[in-house]
Amino acid sequence: MAEKRDYYEVLGVSKNAEAAEIKKAYRKLALQYHPDRNPGDKEAEEKFKEAAEAYDVLSNEEKRRRYDQFGHAGLGGGGFSGGGMSMDDIFAHFGDIFGSFGGFGGFSGFGGGRSAHRVNRGTNLRVKVKMTLEEIATGVEKKIKVKKYVADTHCHGTGAKDGNSFTTCSTCHGTGQITRVQNTILGAMQTTSTCPTCEGEGKIINEKCPHCNGEGVQLSEEVISLNIPAGVADGMQLSLSGKGNAARRGGVNGDLIVLIEEIEHAELVRDGNDLLYNTFISFPDAVLGDSVEIPTLEGKVKVKIEPGTQPGKILRLKGKGIPDINGYGKGDLLVKVNVWIPKNLSREDKKVVEDLKERAFLKPVGGESKKGFFKKMKDFFE
Ligand SMILES: [Zn+2]
Ligand SMILES: [Zn+2]
Repeated sequence: MAEKRDYYEVLGVSKNAEAAEIKKAYRKLALQYHPDRNPGDKEAEEKFKEAAEAYDVLSNEEKRRRYDQFGHAGLGGGGFSGGGMSMDDIFAHFGDIFGSFGGFGGFSGFGGGRSAHRVNRGTNLRVKVKMTLEEIATGVEKKIKVKKYVADTHCHGTGAKDGNSFTTCSTCHGTGQITRVQNTILGAMQTTSTCPTCEGEGKIINEKCPHCNGEGVQLSEEVISLNIPAGVADGMQLSLSGKGNAARRGGVNGDLIVLIEEIEHAELVRDGNDLLYNTFISFPDAVLGDSVEIPTLEGKVKVKIEPGTQPGKILRLKGKGIPDINGYGKGDLLVKVNVWIPKNLSREDKKVVEDLKERAFLKPVGGESKKGFFKKMKDFFE
């Protein structure tokens, strides 16, 4: 495919153009290159598609931000792979824009343009998938059972008995559209609209398929295998194109939207790609040093506590967090070391502590500067 042109250049607007300006520029181009006004003109069609793609990105705050930062590369996988948008996509996405051309005697609108038949689209299917932090850390394949509409095998999704009991629509001769030539102040203009007899399908069912009552779809259960990448987070949605409900009487399947639900971990708290853990050690261990067991997503690890560790010290276990979903490395596991202060002492215990109290070496000296202490606190809470 040829190198893509800059989207701002395509629409002829500046980099800081406002939404209204972008919409206006797109409407102008869409009108100029609309297939109904340029029948059979391949170049106009390409320009029409190019403008629609530019508008799709620049009219969407998130896509525009990514495009501004990373250019075309920032939109990878986000919809326009390969040949860009189809005419059906364009009319489906921007129907509102074409709707406002009404004054010109009705462009064909939804499903119009060059494609002869109106394309039915199945509805999207939504499922929730619960994941543990361990699963999120490695990525996982999950098999889920979904109830959905699939094409009826008896009629091959057509809705007609045995898949062949229909005749070509006589109103539109099977094109699904009717074309009229109208004289306007701009000269003769060809307008196209959906055939009212067959509702754009181009054919009329003679005898409905008895298995699906002419709908072409049946409710069924399907096991779908999901490859969930590492690093997903609660509330994220993955979209599987074409895995949703089948369309009525043939057409394009809807999408399967997978909503990620994170199951809370018993010991670790997630903070972005980092994990947080609180550990408690005894006063003598803080003084003399020790080693403690810390839970991680890959099992327990032993961590050394240096002699003279102050309460609130943060130990950073590099790479023991969650992998970044975009592949930018792994988060860390931050361990906050707390010193356990005992309560409810026996008389004998109290005596020991009282003896200690008199020892000069227990008096705070030097220690950490206030600045250092607050910086550490900040590090932990950020
Ligand atoms: Zn059927
Ligand atoms: Zn028809």
